[in-house]
Amino acid sequence: MDKTELLNALADEIRVCPLCRLAETRIHAVPGDGDDKAEIMFVGEGPGQQEDETGHPFVGKSGKLLINELRKIGITRDQVFITNIVKCRPPGNRNPLADEIAACNDWLSAQIALVEPKFIVVVGGPSLNTLVSKNLRITKDRSRVFKKDGILFIPILHPAAALRSPDTMKLFLEDLANLKDFLSREIRPDEITEIEEKPAPVKAVAPDEDGGTLSLF
Ligand code: URA
Repeated sequence: MDKTELLNALADEIRVCPLCRLAETRIHAVPGDGDDKAEIMFVGEGPGQQEDETGHPFVGKSGKLLINELRKIGITRDQVFITNIVKCRPPGNRNPLADEIAACNDWLSAQIALVEPKFIVVVGGPSLNTLVSKNLRITKDRSRVFKKDGILFIPILHPAAALRSPDTMKLFLEDLANLKDFLSREIRPDEITEIEEKPAPVKAVAPDEDGGTLSLF
């Protein structure tokens, strides 16, 4: 199978994933979509109501804000790969719980391994703490550049937080201006903070031709 087929097979598995309680309340799992050869991947927190209803990420109010603002800095939805740390909607849009994030981690790791992005734009605190380090805080560490396992991570505030407060909106737009700057030039070594923490072990994930599980690692 080529990369596209593997990502599609992975998405098919995610759509029927039974691994945590969010499977019981979802309408649709939201595997993620976009360019499977994208240099830039966006990883948000989790699907909201409209994502749950449609099966696509970042299509609700906060998603539309992010996509519109990205367009203004020259990035279109089809140029990037967009997904979330959890693929099913937490009821009432509560934050995903630690065991739900852990149950979903192999799916996300497999997507990252297949897409092989140069940059991951980390959207919001739970995504920052899951992908980069538990010791970081989105309000303090936004618009910085971290490097882990050869990938550059750029955290931005979550668009849902921007919609709740004009002050946060200002900071969110500042993050996007910084993102545009980082993506338009070579990032200097002194701007990059290396993260040495070991990632969680990755197993899993796409079915092979016989419907069994093919380990990618
Ligand atoms: N939509 C998503 O898919 N993820 C988010 O984090 C927010 C909105």
